[in-house]
Amino acid sequence: DNTSSETKTETTTDSTTDTSQTETKAESTGKKVGVAMPTQSSERWINDGANMKSRLEALGYEVDMQYAEDDIQAQVSQIENLIANGADCLVIAAVDSSALVNVLKQAKDNNIPVIAYDRLLMDTDAVSYYATFDNEGVGTAIGKYIEEKKDLANAKAAGKSYTIEFFMGSPDDNNALFLYRGVMNVLQPYLDDGTLVCKTGRTSFEDTCILRWSQETAQQMCENYLSGYYADEKLDIACTAFDGFAYGVRAALEGAGYTLGDEWPLITGQDAELMATKNIISGYQTMSIYKDTRILADKCVTMVQAVLEGTEPEINDKEQYNNNVITVPSYLCTPVAVDKDNYKEIIVDGGYYTEEQLAD
Ligand code: BGC
Repeated sequence: DNTSSETKTETTTDSTTDTSQTETKAESTGKKVGVAMPTQSSERWINDGANMKSRLEALGYEVDMQYAEDDIQAQVSQIENLIANGADCLVIAAVDSSALVNVLKQAKDNNIPVIAYDRLLMDTDAVSYYATFDNEGVGTAIGKYIEEKKDLANAKAAGKSYTIEFFMGSPDDNNALFLYRGVMNVLQPYLDDGTLVCKTGRTSFEDTCILRWSQETAQQMCENYLSGYYADEKLDIACTAFDGFAYGVRAALEGAGYTLGDEWPLITGQDAELMATKNIISGYQTMSIYKDTRILADKCVTMVQAVLEGTEPEINDKEQYNNNVITVPSYLCTPVAVDKDNYKEIIVDGGYYTEEQLAD
């Protein structure tokens, strides 16, 4: 059969973050990889999916990719279908990290290895490897950015304090708690000594987490905070865990009459989405955490190869990610804080977005 050994050249045009113009398709391995992604409502997951698909196909795997639009039951059904359709390996970024226990057992019973992608799969032994970013590191980078930009270490001596509110990630996403921990490792001492003042008093994870990373909920929370607690004083810092939250906070601030300039708060985010990066350039967002999804996809692909071809994937963490049943061997990619001073070097020179994409 000479069709399968033919080397095809394909032009990639659909991914915003994939700079490779041509992918050389390898000989088909005859193996199928099922990829289950959480949602297309945020740009990062669209890029993740596109990168995974093109890299797996370039290695000769057939790819069946599904997006669950943040619906837990839809994701369960999609994974059941991937299993029924003969997937040899599953790559899963969960909507709800704990909701897939039964369907993952099905995968295991069918000898289908599972790789957790970005979000850990909880409460199961049916997961071989985990590819992600250093999630606590994301929180630490956000906290450190605030600490440095506001010079918190010297603020007290200078008689300064800043108001701050927190918008943290989804309680059903293991990443969210790690991120919160990283943020608080840096900022808690400043809350304790009064350098940072959280007027709503909402600083615990339980009080600040936002189910399914909803932008609308973040906006509503911020609107309520501004009207209920910030009538007489400005909000100085919105510590948010996601670019989507930063968009919601921006809308709430504009609704409350804040304008760009001195009174505009420091707003953090995560993912360096295209819109967020544009907002960083215009000033509506202060920083984001750049997560190069091309690197994550590469690491994940080495794990797929490991379980399918018996190779050894690169692992750099064997301790942090216990899912209540097993500790999952992981590769943690490094998150990078970006703002208007370094986005050109990191994001444009890094080939993630072009100047043209950022200009329109
Ligand atoms: C990811 C973040 C993302 C968030 C919302 C998390 O699991 O690690 O990069 O911002 O989900 O989609």
